[in-house]
Amino acid sequence: MALRFKNSLSRRVEEFVPIEPGVAKMYTCGPTVYNFAHIGNFRAYIFEDLLRRYLSYKGYRVTQVMNLTDIDDKIIRDSKARGIPIKQFTAPVIKAFFEDIDALRIERAEHYPPATEHIPEMVALVKVLLERGHAYQIDGDYYYRIASFPKYGQLANLDMQGLKAGARVDADEYEKESVSDFALWKAWDENDGDAFWETELGKGRPGWHLECSAMSTKYLGKRFDIHTGGVDNMFPHHENEIAQSEGATGETFVNYWLHCEHLMVDGRKMSKSLGNQYTLRDVLDKGYSGLAVRYLLMATHYRQQLNFTFEGLESARAALERYNDFISNLESYPGGKSDGSAGGVISGAAAGFEETLDDDLNISGALGVVFDFIRDINRLKAEDKLSAGERDEALKLIRRFDSVLDFRTKAVSLEAEIEDLIRQRTEARKSRNFAQADKIRDDLLARGIILEDTPQGVKWKRKV
Ligand code: AMP
Ligand code: ZN
Repeated sequence: MALRFKNSLSRRVEEFVPIEPGVAKMYTCGPTVYNFAHIGNFRAYIFEDLLRRYLSYKGYRVTQVMNLTDIDDKIIRDSKARGIPIKQFTAPVIKAFFEDIDALRIERAEHYPPATEHIPEMVALVKVLLERGHAYQIDGDYYYRIASFPKYGQLANLDMQGLKAGARVDADEYEKESVSDFALWKAWDENDGDAFWETELGKGRPGWHLECSAMSTKYLGKRFDIHTGGVDNMFPHHENEIAQSEGATGETFVNYWLHCEHLMVDGRKMSKSLGNQYTLRDVLDKGYSGLAVRYLLMATHYRQQLNFTFEGLESARAALERYNDFISNLESYPGGKSDGSAGGVISGAAAGFEETLDDDLNISGALGVVFDFIRDINRLKAEDKLSAGERDEALKLIRRFDSVLDFRTKAVSLEAEIEDLIRQRTEARKSRNFAQADKIRDDLLARGIILEDTPQGVKWKRKV
């Protein structure tokens, strides 16, 4: 079966057929950089990481763009409160964001365009919308006329009947109740401080929705394959992106819309405004690893709500331990006598992993396949029914799975552990505890690590 996605626009599961064969172009709404992202935000970015890695696994060449919203109402408000220029206010937040995505092993997108560096592209887009009758100006503010775009409301499935013509909204975020003409460009007023650009549209700044239309086109073209975000982005943000982009080009903007459900806490969405958020740093400070958070956020299907608990993190930790122990133990297993059953276990797991993920990224199904595989190979190993060749095939497969999951504790920690054992052995020898020193050497040997005493000290290498 081919790769399929549930498309929010059609509300159906559809086969993924990219515009250009072998290439997947995707756009991801990124963070508004006014404060540390919380782990709810990272659920969306982890889902997008799974998506991009699985597309690569399937052989697609992926180009992903994630914008950085570094100008909006909240950024202006908070930088003013701190009395510092916008750039100075957002720089440390952006730095922290990249540190967090590295800690969560979110693969880097190809482009991270900041809104403030794409003002000319946004101005050009507003000019096209004016020419095509989708935009109008009042006192230096520019609005999108949603009545000029009959498809408006299709993504969010809105009933446009009760629409009040001419109602307008300036705020970057608003609720469904006020389906309104939205601001493309806002004229400067004294509250905006240093947040303005002198442009052909006058002195002002862009509305939030404009940046995603302008920057996706710049980096991916007028039409591209996949657009993602959290469900709360669907309206008004993504609806407005469609109106802007299709209003300007007259062509379909995006073929597949994928929306990730929320991370919840006690039945409510994790969000800054409710004050129930945990940043990644909060969780790391409690002694959990970025990897455990990665596992927890990834392991539930993206279209299901996920309730955040510390018990959930504990289970994630246990699953990761099982996964990593399996690989380390298999690496040091010398191989036994095959009973011919490992081949079927390996090919069955390879097929099962792909079948489940092809089904709209059914990750819980895929993890079920992975842990069954671990159980079955462990059993063969315990019975000494796995040959060295089969061991290598099994390792090759789990490493291939790991190119999507990235759950392997890094080799660095293995190296640190070995260095630590070598130090303990040196200490044992110094205190003439040769039995302990020999035991450390033998234990390492069983794991495939050979120690050599050289004039420069103890060196180690892997058994080949
Ligand atoms: P924001 O910085 O608020 O624009 O959000 C950045 C991304 O995180 C968007 O794609 C949101 O939809 C997503 N997001 C925000 N809160 C949550 C949550 N509790 N669970 C999952 N995704 C969220
Ligand atoms: Zn966006």
